[in-house]
Amino acid sequence: MSVALDPDEIGAKIIDGKELARSVRRKIRRQVKKLKFTPGLAVVQVGDDPASTVYVSNKEKDCQYVGFHSEVHRMPAETPQAAVIEQIHTLNSREDIHGIIAQMPVPDSIDGDTIINAIMPEKDADGLTLVNLGNLLINREQTVPCTPAGIIRLIESTGVGIEGSRVVCVGRSSLVGKPVGLMLLNRNATVTYCHTRTRELFSETQQADILIAAVGRPRLITAGMVKPGAVVIDVGITITEDGFVGDVDYESVEEVAGFITPVPGGVGPMTRAMLLENTLELALARK
Ligand code: NAP
Repeated sequence: MSVALDPDEIGAKIIDGKELARSVRRKIRRQVKKLKFTPGLAVVQVGDDPASTVYVSNKEKDCQYVGFHSEVHRMPAETPQAAVIEQIHTLNSREDIHGIIAQMPVPDSIDGDTIINAIMPEKDADGLTLVNLGNLLINREQTVPCTPAGIIRLIESTGVGIEGSRVVCVGRSSLVGKPVGLMLLNRNATVTYCHTRTRELFSETQQADILIAAVGRPRLITAGMVKPGAVVIDVGITITEDGFVGDVDYESVEEVAGFITPVPGGVGPMTRAMLLENTLELALARK
């Protein structure tokens, strides 16, 4: 469905990621109740990065809610890379484990990409192996990365059409910016990527019907950078003295945009929900 943007309407509609995520979780829970087996997700965490520990425990809670089996393999920071890969190979071969994720970041002694690619693509719940990213590149989306998948759902929830729209992604990381741009390109948007070498960020972002900020610089995107009526998706999350702050200057942009995601409560909850959805799809594909 395509909805015309109305630049005269004052004040953005808030895209409620928490509520959308809740409805995804409820749907998965209902589906799981009907299954004759239990989907299983395994998390491999190397080291004790405090933020990772919080993320992992949230993933466990989410699994518990929807009725998945979950297990966390915590390995000390000094674990050799070969031992981490061996652990992943063991999980690859287990029938009761349908999804595996390698929690990032890993200690410097370990190569994160090597660890991620030890996961077999059929169990790659984060959609970050080279095979799954390659499938995205050739428009044969299989398991797609969770944050980009969540962003697509958030945009779809506005009713604003993606096809033919101008999308600007500020940020080009392999985790968020690049794959979400590809997913939108696959849905026939016209996509521009901006990054630290972009010459005139302002004039690029002002063109966007859909503006995605995945940078990690608090309040980088201000009202003057936003086209009136645009859909603004704020992926960034930085802990500051004021609490969690996004890449978008919410108070000023909210007056210009048509739709906006809050931080927290926008992209984050949907990222978590998409991990559950990916795991369920992988589980169903193996049965
Ligand atoms: P990243 O790997 O550090 O990438 C940041 C990107 O922003 C890079 O492409 C960089 O350009 C670009 N950039 C940095 N400063 C810029 C500037 N002043 N102007 C224009 N572009 C600039 O970060 P990431 O992993 O994509 O994460 C981005 C943010 O999203 C972080 O705050 C992260 O915490 C958050 N995040 C949230 C979720 C969630 O679920 N809510 C999930 C993932 C990430 P170069 O390529 O030129 O360096």
